[in-house]
Formats: sequence, C-alpha cells, structure tokens
Amino acid sequence: MPSPPDLDTSLTYCTYCPKLCRHTCPVSNAEAKETLTPRDKMATMRLLRRAEVPQTVEQSEPLYGCTGCGACTDFCLHKVEPGQALLRGRAEAERDGRGHPALRDLAARFTAKSTEAARRARAGVSQDKRPTEAQIAFFPGCDAPELAPTMLSLCDRIGAEYVSLADGEHGCGGYPLFAAGQFDAFRLHAERMSRQLAGFARVVVNCPACVWAMRTQYREFGVPLAPAVEHTSEFLEGFVERLPIERRRAAAFYQDPCYLGRWLGVYDAPRRLAKKAVDDVREFSRARNEAECTGGGGLLPTTMPDTAHAIAEHRLTEVRQAKVSTVVTSCPTCKRQLDRDDVHAVDLIELLDEATRK
Ligand code: SF4
Ligand code: SF4
Repeated sequence: MPSPPDLDTSLTYCTYCPKLCRHTCPVSNAEAKETLTPRDKMATMRLLRRAEVPQTVEQSEPLYGCTGCGACTDFCLHKVEPGQALLRGRAEAERDGRGHPALRDLAARFTAKSTEAARRARAGVSQDKRPTEAQIAFFPGCDAPELAPTMLSLCDRIGAEYVSLADGEHGCGGYPLFAAGQFDAFRLHAERMSRQLAGFARVVVNCPACVWAMRTQYREFGVPLAPAVEHTSEFLEGFVERLPIERRRAAAFYQDPCYLGRWLGVYDAPRRLAKKAVDDVREFSRARNEAECTGGGGLLPTTMPDTAHAIAEHRLTEVRQAKVSTVVTSCPTCKRQLDRDDVHAVDLIELLDEATRK
C-alpha cells in the first residue's frame, strides 16, 4: 500500500476535493451533517491549524466525529488517511485546551479501567498460568478481560497449553489515549507496557486497535517493545486444521473489525477459524476492505454515543433482514457495539471455545 501524503498535503487535498469519499463515512452517513464528511473534518482541521477560524472547543468538535475506520482512505486515490490525521488534530486541540469535554478526565478513567481489566483477567487464571516470563502470553485487552480464562482453556484443548496470561498492573495497550490525542499520556503508558511485557517473546492481543497501536505507534513514539505482537486470530490460525470441533452453529455473519482488516490486513485468518465452527458463514454486502464500521472506534461511543449506536444499528439491518441471530467478530469493541437481545454478537474465542467443548 502506498504511503499517505504528509499531513499538510493531506489537509490540502481534502480541502479541495469534491468529497469523493463522502459515501463511505459511517459518521456522516449516520448524522447527515456536512461538517462531518471526511472532507469537511479535514478542512476544519486545516482552518484551525492556519488560525483562520476561532480556536475553540466548539470549532474543534468535528475532529472527534471519526471512528478511525479507514473506509475513506480505501476509496481515496491519494491514499489520504483522515482517520489518522484527525487524531493529530485532536492532539493539537488537547495541547491548546480545546479538547472534547467528554474526554477531559480520560486519563484517570483510562487508568481505572485498565487496572480493573488486569484484575478481572487475573481473577479467573491460576497462579501457574501467570509467570512473569514466557514464550507466548495472552493479553485480552480492557473491553473483555473475562475472555482470559476462556482463551487459556481453549489453548489447553488445542495443544497450546504453554500459553499463559500476560499478567501485570495494566490490562489495556493504550489505544484510547492515542485516539483521544492525549499523546503524552499514551507515551507514558507505552513505556509502562514495555516494562510489563518485557519477559515475553510473543504477546497475543485480542483487541485489534491495541494490536495496531502496540505494533506501529509504540515505535513511532520511540518506545521499544520486546515481544512480537499478534492478534488472537493470527495465533489461532496455526491450529485451524486440528481444532477438536464438537458442535457447530448453523449460520452467522462475520464482521471485519476495521483495525484488524483495513489497518492490519487480516481478513482470512478469522474467516478460516469461523468456518470451522459455523456451517454457513455469511458475508455482509460490504465486507473485507469495504466493510462498514460498527461505530466503536475513535472513542465515538464516548464523544457521540447516539451516533455510535446509530452506526451499529445500521450495520445490524442486514443481519436482521437475513433472519440470522449471530454475528461473529474478532474485536471486543465490535462485539459490544453489535450485541442486542435479538442478535447475539460473539467473539471468535467464545465461538471456538463453545465449538470445542465436549
Ligand atoms: S480522503 Fe481523499 S477522497 Fe476523501 S476527501 Fe480527502 S482527498 Fe477526497
Ligand atoms: S476514517 Fe472512517 S469515520 Fe473517519 S472520516 Fe474516514 S470514513 Fe469517516
């Protein structure tokens, strides 16, 4: 994939673009506001940087109307990345004291959630599965720490009993701080995680956004990370031919998480695994690199909760029309966004755990 243009060039391209990617943006589709199209968000950021509009909280608000899904980039002939550029804009807003009001105490909330996630992951795992040094350790992330014992028990059943828990004080890789544009806090957290994970050769992470942040952004921020980082589906794919399948679900849609698909290029591994446990894995009409976001990225559920919910409801329309009651995904955030009373969203780990139990 070609590199994106530099930031100034990207902002200029978008400002003078006839909104060629507008139809791809889940936020402006849900909100139907011109100010939230990718072009207008980027043009607003350019005006803010050039001090051509008042540098206020209100004027900066469109910078937060983005999930970072990357759908616009996939459509853009110049490969501009509004999803990444706008996070730089958020960092500038934070620096100037015009950050989004809903993110004002984010760092404190983040620390509380991250440490609580680590405690919850640890709670279901025995001491012998929590060494400080190991070849491979599992890191569930802060949105679904309860998957830790499920994943380790699945690993026992597939002959990967050597996988342990990446135990430590924190249970989040730091993507929320990055997405908020709180870059100093993100760097500090990356340094903490670098120390926490130093004893492992490989870390299997279940949150795609944190896999992306740990693989690419720690380095960008000058923080070395000793272990190789891979997503759960990449690790489990190595066992796909020897999964001891006992039962299968009849039908399920597969939801591509944006950070796993568009940002990390992982499309086939989760599908191969899901097909082992589901007779009929359905594709959305927009799938793989064209997949629609579920509205959970970029902290949208915090800054624009109604819009985030509307995006998820739109994604579920096709599932309901097909009268299918299961969506499989490989991202705890997508799972949280899509889970309803009539549609059950399941993580790949849960699906494979259920399928391989006697
Ligand atoms: S991302 Fe590309 S297609 Fe979209 S507004 Fe910017 S220049 Fe145009
Ligand atoms: S990255 Fe996604 S949410 Fe953000 S502007 Fe592009 S299409 Fe819209």
